[in-house]
Amino acid sequence: MKRTRIVAGNWKMNKDYEAGLSLASEIFPMIESEVQHDLLTILFPPFVHIHALASLSAGKKAFAIGAQDCSANVSGAFTGELAASMIKSAGADYVLVGHSERRQYHGETDTLCYEKIKRALEAGLRPIYCIGELKEQRVAGIFEEVIVAQLEGALAKLTATEMAQLVLAYEPVWAIGTGLTASPEQAQEVHALIRSWLAKQFDIETAQMTSILYGGSVNAANAKELFGMPDIDGGLVGGASLKSRDFTEIAKANH
Ligand code: PEP
Repeated sequence: MKRTRIVAGNWKMNKDYEAGLSLASEIFPMIESEVQHDLLTILFPPFVHIHALASLSAGKKAFAIGAQDCSANVSGAFTGELAASMIKSAGADYVLVGHSERRQYHGETDTLCYEKIKRALEAGLRPIYCIGELKEQRVAGIFEEVIVAQLEGALAKLTATEMAQLVLAYEPVWAIGTGLTASPEQAQEVHALIRSWLAKQFDIETAQMTSILYGGSVNAANAKELFGMPDIDGGLVGGASLKSRDFTEIAKANH
């Protein structure tokens, strides 16, 4: 069995409702007509677009919609929060957990990420768990320890069956939105580390079947080389996912 190749677009806090709909209406047919290989494309729009985009992509097996975050709680007095079950009921199938902007601006910890992953799984959402080191941690040569701690902190209590529902995304924080990209070799080194941690923690099959995405200034020019590395199964794309042509070129590069 081959791992699922994925291109995911994280729109972050961009695109009002109409603009979001029109971007998705460009992306779906463009990818449908130009991408000939097996690929799952997941769009992560702001929450308010989820239902409309899920309707737009209904019945298209190569597309899915996800949320950029979910609550660690099931329901109740949590003003402003959205439960995983609500997100699922709006038509999403995926959710990002632990994106570096959530860690940086909202103080999210690995333990909180574990709780969110559990809520997502209970609701039938597949989490994409994001990890990555800060610039100073790379410079100090401690990125491996940082990555392993993020894996252990959020995933160690999962069963192999639960882990099989997850996708991982390695996103070095110094490469997100900066125009700096990890070299294919730097990214591959970390992806291989992640896969060997999965094999040790769970089993070889889980390690072999988990899709691991790279994120950090992926664009049409650098995607092919990154996706050509043996342990890189696709990309989590921020800025370039807001342009249908660029995003489609990235999708085309992932095979
Ligand atoms: C991201 O937000 O996950 C990301 C990788 O952003 P960018 O592609 O803009 O660096």
